[in-house]
Amino acid sequence: MAHSRSTTGSTTSAATAAAQKKPPDLELPVKRMTPKSFFRKEGKRRRKVRAEALFARLSQYVENRTELTYETPFQLLVAVILSANATDVSVNKATPKLFADYPDAKALAAVEPSEIEPYVKSINHYRNKSRAVVETARALVERHNGEVPRQMEEMTTLRGVGRKTANVVLGTAFNINEGIAVDTHANRVSTRLALSVDEDPKQVEAELMELFERQHWTAVSHRLILLGRYICKARKPACRVCPVIAFCPSREMEPEEAEAEPRRIE
Ligand code: SF4
Repeated sequence: MAHSRSTTGSTTSAATAAAQKKPPDLELPVKRMTPKSFFRKEGKRRRKVRAEALFARLSQYVENRTELTYETPFQLLVAVILSANATDVSVNKATPKLFADYPDAKALAAVEPSEIEPYVKSINHYRNKSRAVVETARALVERHNGEVPRQMEEMTTLRGVGRKTANVVLGTAFNINEGIAVDTHANRVSTRLALSVDEDPKQVEAELMELFERQHWTAVSHRLILLGRYICKARKPACRVCPVIAFCPSREMEPEEAEAEPRRIE
């Protein structure tokens, strides 16, 4: 199995001790504000400084990886198509047998969608997704010699592949930072952290791209997604163990009240 390699840096004890301290030049207001009010008040320049410091902190505690399992760029593309509105866990349960029997674009291009439905029927919208996977495989064989293209424009002509999917595959499989994949977790966390308060994921992506250095775009996406999945959950954010509590205007307590050692996501 070939998860994308982690780039989590080493964590020194000094960094651990400092983890929950407020950054001196980025004090958040004592008076609670909504993310929207904070976003308006903060302004772009300071937000960029906060975002960079926040990313450095996040990098100490949250790995840079997808949770989807795959061995090749094509298998990652199939897994991401299957994961739309579904959990990575459900996709990872289905794909080992699918990839064992149909490991590449050529193999999947040769079957009818109904033949792969039994493999993926535990994933929601499996009929549509089966069609998308087979049509994508056929397009890759016809136009790209069975390989996954490395250009956003080419990727997004494939069925079932929007900008978000293309961002994940380009960034994770090829280290190409074309954009920032904003899923439901990254969107929610971006709002709570007041990095963007827009509701349209495309607009959120554009704003995040302005805040973070291009070389970090894929890592920003992976780390925000993991933070949202395991700590900044939709119903009950676990602020007490959140590594970026000191940067968050939506926090439910002061950083001093949080755990001294934030939770790691590895
Ligand atoms: S401090 Fe709380 S609300 Fe803010 S990012 Fe962390 S878990 Fe989410």
